[in-house]
Amino acid sequence: MATQIVSPSVFGLDRAGIRRAAVIGAGSMGGGIAAQFANAGIPVDLLDIPGGEGAPRHAPAQAGIERQLRAGGFMDPAVAALVRPGNTEDDLARLAEADWIVEAIIEDPDAKRALYARIDAVRKPGSIVSSNTSTIPRAALVEGAGDRFRADFVITHFFNPPRVMRLVELVSTAENDPAIVARARQACEIVLGKTVVDCNDTPGFIANRIGCYWMAVGALEALRLGVTPEEADAVAVALGAPRTGVFGLLDLVGIDLVPHVWGSLLKALPPGDGAHAFDLPASEVIRTLIGRGLFGRKAKAGFYRLAADRSREVFDPASGDYRPERPCDPKSLPGGGRDVAALVADDGKLGRYAWSVLSHLIAYTSACAPEIAADTAAVDTAIALGYAWRDGPFALAQKAGLVEIVARLEREGRAVPPLLRRAREAERFFNAAGAPLLSDGRGYRAQADAATGIVRLAGVKAAGRTIAGNEAASLHDLGDGIACFEIHTKLNSLAPGVFDLIEETLARGGRDFSALVIGNDDPRAFSAGADLAFIASLVEEQDWRALEAYIARGQSLYLQLKYAPFPVVAATHGFALGGGCELTLHADTVVSHAELTIGLPEFRVGIIPAWGGTTQLLLRAQAEHAGDAISAARRAFDIVTGAETSQSARHAFSLGLLRAGDGIVMNRDLLLAAAMRRAAELREAGYRAPERAAIESAGKAGYDRLLEAAGEKRDGNVFTQTDFTIAEALARVLTGGADALPGSAQTEETQMRRELEALLDLAAKPAARERIRHVLATGKHLRN
Ligand code: NAD
Repeated sequence: MATQIVSPSVFGLDRAGIRRAAVIGAGSMGGGIAAQFANAGIPVDLLDIPGGEGAPRHAPAQAGIERQLRAGGFMDPAVAALVRPGNTEDDLARLAEADWIVEAIIEDPDAKRALYARIDAVRKPGSIVSSNTSTIPRAALVEGAGDRFRADFVITHFFNPPRVMRLVELVSTAENDPAIVARARQACEIVLGKTVVDCNDTPGFIANRIGCYWMAVGALEALRLGVTPEEADAVAVALGAPRTGVFGLLDLVGIDLVPHVWGSLLKALPPGDGAHAFDLPASEVIRTLIGRGLFGRKAKAGFYRLAADRSREVFDPASGDYRPERPCDPKSLPGGGRDVAALVADDGKLGRYAWSVLSHLIAYTSACAPEIAADTAAVDTAIALGYAWRDGPFALAQKAGLVEIVARLEREGRAVPPLLRRAREAERFFNAAGAPLLSDGRGYRAQADAATGIVRLAGVKAAGRTIAGNEAASLHDLGDGIACFEIHTKLNSLAPGVFDLIEETLARGGRDFSALVIGNDDPRAFSAGADLAFIASLVEEQDWRALEAYIARGQSLYLQLKYAPFPVVAATHGFALGGGCELTLHADTVVSHAELTIGLPEFRVGIIPAWGGTTQLLLRAQAEHAGDAISAARRAFDIVTGAETSQSARHAFSLGLLRAGDGIVMNRDLLLAAAMRRAAELREAGYRAPERAAIESAGKAGYDRLLEAAGEKRDGNVFTQTDFTIAEALARVLTGGADALPGSAQTEETQMRRELEALLDLAAKPAARERIRHVLATGKHLRN
């Protein structure tokens, strides 16, 4: 079925000043960065060395594009067409078109410098040139370059994989043109959707300098104290690291890279640097593993490996062999895995180990901070985003208690760096407003969010601008007459309290605000949909009246939102499933984070979307297929029975869940601000509620067509018999069934009544109960 191809507008691109980009080096990083430009809708040249003998000249660059297609670097395979492959011998002149040239070739200063001289000869004035180097200082990269090149050249250090990892370390110095640095920052934020951390030009910048130190201390202290990898990894989790912990992360990075990564970092650091006390490459165990080819995951064995029966085994340094895993649950640690102060205060082996890791980490980080970063937030953000920690080292130490940390360091006769001592006086690295301590210790920074245009509900709440709320949802005043409706249940599911507040919000509209944004600060979900546990309990108890009331209320409120006299903008991100997706279908428009998992999984749960979702999809399909009610019904039928969940916002357009006029925001932090701007635009354009829609029935011919399609799918084993039964009910809803007269116009209310009746019918069948139970037990609807 032909679907409309839409090129969604991407928020802020007009302001970012990047119309065309170029990336040189089509390896895992360069290919991924080029893909991210394409994801933002920016055309990009991707150049690599020319293909070898017999190979096409663009083969290496083309291979880089194909690798990204396989690895999921593109948010929609169609945008790969924006990446133009080329090679650095034949196509260098193309760089003259680029506003930003990113270098991501091998980590070799001579090769990079030689390339820069060639780039400089062809690039246009005012273009940004940046390197993705992870270890080479900026100063070494610009050796021998002219003033203009030095002014325009920065380091933009992305993390792997570039689509997923949010951190970019931006390294600039006083010789840079401030306008270039500002544009590079904006481009990273707005175009590529990244969080920028400013770094000084020092070895390993921030994340790897501190992250590598932490891993070295974590591993070497565990080996010294006889702490097993399972225990050490559990302690790491308790300190806020992700589940891989220290040893799991070494396996993931590759133990063979230890001499290279840690070795070159130690070589670059002055002899007095504290990192030399933890020389990971010199470790006996690391050398043994490397000597035996036990490199970690890529060798299918490292500190951990899977036995033939898929149980985990762990390398035992004492015996030099593997033994069965002895799992250690972080919750079993002193402090229950969350109370860091209690964990490090414990006198047992693991408490002492945790103290050693925490105390070294905080002392080293405090000692380095003045050299590597402007403030404590830069360090914490780099570690939180680059190493996926819950908090960075400073926030962690603050939670653990700075008074006790400093007192204990003193009792142990260890040095207390000035920054740590300064923080101890105020008892915080971040003040009450959350502003970070400057790394020279001379006070706290003024909060930066306002300057960069980030709107966070946390700040709105702290300022006391909440208009109304209950345990499930709140309504906040964002200023300028715009309100934000925030759902804050578990995964923001639609508990009955959410409906109470929609009702109140509708009543307040026009009085307390003139435009509405629906959104939140939550890192995971816009809304995961119906309160499935609640529905399940009604289904189990066969309380059909209560189920009917819950659904009918949602239908009515969603429809009232659609026809409210004020504009409604849904700010979607993360999960927007089922009822969460249906909520967006009733908004005037959607502004979505580029990473969006939206879908209507109801069909798989044994029911159909009944909060008006089926009706709105049918209406949208009728707008697409004007005058052809049968094709429209088929389109809506395919969307509902496909029950597909998007891999990105771009993908959601091709699934028919976003439509022309909806927009994309690359940077999650800028989502609410973009939605506010859109809401204000709609209002300023003289917003009027849409005219009441009428739905055309496809009638018997349409019904027969859909049944035929369902029958074919059943015969082709795409549908089970249960699927067929649901599809049959859906076909009746979408067309009016075998008795409907074609062309007869329905109101949305009548159409939604059909949805509701079909839902109640299906929910009463044992198959639905089974599927709901299964989904609740597995959480399957939350996966792709
Ligand atoms: P890679 O080996 O996967 O790819 C490098 C690519 O550059 C290859 O395709 C190679 O053919 C090409 N190349 C080499 N010399 C070239 C030249 N003179 N002209 C044009 N192309 C050339 O490397 P990668 O992992 O993508 O790393 C690239 C850069 O990014 C390095 O500076 C690296 O330190 C840095 N980096 C890597 C990671 C990571 O996790 N891989 C993370 C952050 C930064």
